[in-house]
Amino acid sequence: MPGQDVSTTCPYCGVGCGVIATPTGPDSALVRGDPAHPANFGRLCSKGSALGETLSLEGRLLAPRIAGREAGWDEALELVARRFAETIAEHGPDSVAFYVSGQLLTEDYYVANKLMKGWIGSANIDTNSRLCMASSVAGHRRAFGADTVPGTYEDLEEADLVVLVGSNLAWCHPVLMQRLLAAREARGTRIITVDPRRTNTAEAADLHLPLAPGSDVTLFNSLLREIAARGAQDDAYIAAHVSGAADAFAAAAAATPEETARVTGLTPAAIAAFHDMWIGTPRVVTVYSQGVNQASDGTDKVNAILNCHLATGRIGTPGAAPFSVTGQPNAMGGREVGGLANMLACHLDIENDAHRALMRGFWDSPRLPERPGLKAVDLFDACATGQIKALWVMCTNPAVSLPRADHVAEAIRSCDFVVVSDIVADTDTTRLADVLLPATGWGEKDGTVTNSERRISRQRAFLPAPGAARADWRIICDVAARMGFGAGFDYAGPAEIFREYAALSGLAARAGGDFDLSGLTGLDDWGYEALAPRHWPVPAAGPEGGRFFAEGGFFTPDRRGRMLPLTQRSSPNAVSADYPLLLNTGRVRDHWHTMTRTAKSARLSRHLAEPFVEIHPRDAAAAGLAHAALARIESPHGEMLARVRITDRTPPGLLFAPMHWTGEWSSRGRVDAVMAAETDPVSGQPELKRTAVRIAPLAPA
Ligand code: SF4
Repeated sequence: MPGQDVSTTCPYCGVGCGVIATPTGPDSALVRGDPAHPANFGRLCSKGSALGETLSLEGRLLAPRIAGREAGWDEALELVARRFAETIAEHGPDSVAFYVSGQLLTEDYYVANKLMKGWIGSANIDTNSRLCMASSVAGHRRAFGADTVPGTYEDLEEADLVVLVGSNLAWCHPVLMQRLLAAREARGTRIITVDPRRTNTAEAADLHLPLAPGSDVTLFNSLLREIAARGAQDDAYIAAHVSGAADAFAAAAAATPEETARVTGLTPAAIAAFHDMWIGTPRVVTVYSQGVNQASDGTDKVNAILNCHLATGRIGTPGAAPFSVTGQPNAMGGREVGGLANMLACHLDIENDAHRALMRGFWDSPRLPERPGLKAVDLFDACATGQIKALWVMCTNPAVSLPRADHVAEAIRSCDFVVVSDIVADTDTTRLADVLLPATGWGEKDGTVTNSERRISRQRAFLPAPGAARADWRIICDVAARMGFGAGFDYAGPAEIFREYAALSGLAARAGGDFDLSGLTGLDDWGYEALAPRHWPVPAAGPEGGRFFAEGGFFTPDRRGRMLPLTQRSSPNAVSADYPLLLNTGRVRDHWHTMTRTAKSARLSRHLAEPFVEIHPRDAAAAGLAHAALARIESPHGEMLARVRITDRTPPGLLFAPMHWTGEWSSRGRVDAVMAAETDPVSGQPELKRTAVRIAPLAPA
């Protein structure tokens, strides 16, 4: 007998689609798109529609484990609290770290951040979202003074031109692609894709610009130069609302047509077509994603795009905005609660004295760090060197997903004390833990998430918690209480956490911030349960949601948006005689992250069943590779095996391999074992789109 319908939110990508789940047993449910949810209006992609096939308890972690043996909660929590407290007492607060996840709900994230920053007194809490959108955060903060996304999904439907930069929207944000294609059908929206590969998204575009990897700053500087040359800038908007325009235009002057063609590898005709379409279309949305963010100059790429929108005033009006789309279901929520090592909750700045005072006063917390903590790549390096002696990994699998994954696995192994809270018993990371704590998963827990367009939606439980599993927020609070911090962590449930966070946001907004949920401070438990999807800001007085910056009002000290002078930098990941090809990584249509859930669906696994590497026919011939043969890919950091797919979708000199497969597929299925760990100096985001490699047929055993 099916149970009652429950409205909740898809746990995969940052589109944040609403789904209706109907439980059919203790670990099964029917799932369909929610026609009332404004992110998807009933649509789902292949992953979302297969959610009901991924709920079985096979492989779940159902009880705490200490050194591999099952234990009770009390024993496990006492041990975690004691070892963290002892480490802090002996080596100081910066000797411990949390590594968290964009899969956590906002309430989980909030208390993890509160424990580490407000009570332990370190900023060593960073997130796997560092791998997907940190450069967008840094770019927003440089240009807007806060991590504010100006646009909404409606803008994709109201634009006359949508430019997709470093975004395979058709596979990575499929419901947004569905909405865009429907808009094209209805109003003739044109689409440009900027991507070295001919992806499914590129095949749907009116113009595909297969630029050389990493040449985005030159391409958008050339656009800015052309805007100035044609007098297409919005002088009135610049005069009223923007600073830095003269310097930005001067820097862009170097991107002459000849130089742009040389650096990007694009034809002059393709570059001119891009300029004509962008400049000639007032309603333009520039969408960007991992191909922009995951670079050693990712923040500059973001600001090169923002410069063009600020220069033309094409921001915050219907159909006109720069738009960063997030990878994970709650990457945005994590940003809001300060789940990054360089931020405080509610977009407050850790290096701002007044913001720290506000934060500490509100929490009445014993301490607060004055400097940013270790970002993801540095955090695991600090485990390797012994600086971090106690590590708690929540809801993520860094031994697979971080670059130099073998090094990261060794770093975790060498750490004195490692805790992992997860829903899965056996991953490359859980195998390295001293203590495993069973968490509840999607469908079993309650809280909120925020999608790419700043829309907050509820995730609701529709299945019982299996075994001894507990909500992440509760596990964190249980440890905090045993560390002697109980007064700050005695929440009755996620609604109470949400209310506290909403109240804090009101103070942050009054201090000049962008993020304001003060209108939800009075939400009672019933109101939280019934909370409908809504855009922030939700102020106590005044209009809610909407778009930002059409009338200026940036969050910089002078309230002006900032254009930045940018020059093309070269990547440290360059080819050499030993490593003559570049390896690019990304997602496939039907799998999610390290496949702990999507691999349970036979339907999803049929799409692409094993790790593969795409290679251009010219490079395959040079390497002696046959289609469907096994190949070994090597870099100075590690190696992987993959099935060869010879295709001209990938240009000469560039390989592509998906990010999903783990060490369980084979001894060497992990692409991130191969990837270098160079990071953007501003955002700390690693360059997961290029590493110099070599490839060869797998020698017979
Ligand atoms: Fe889920 Fe994203 Fe697919 Fe929507 S587009 S159903 S959020 S994976």
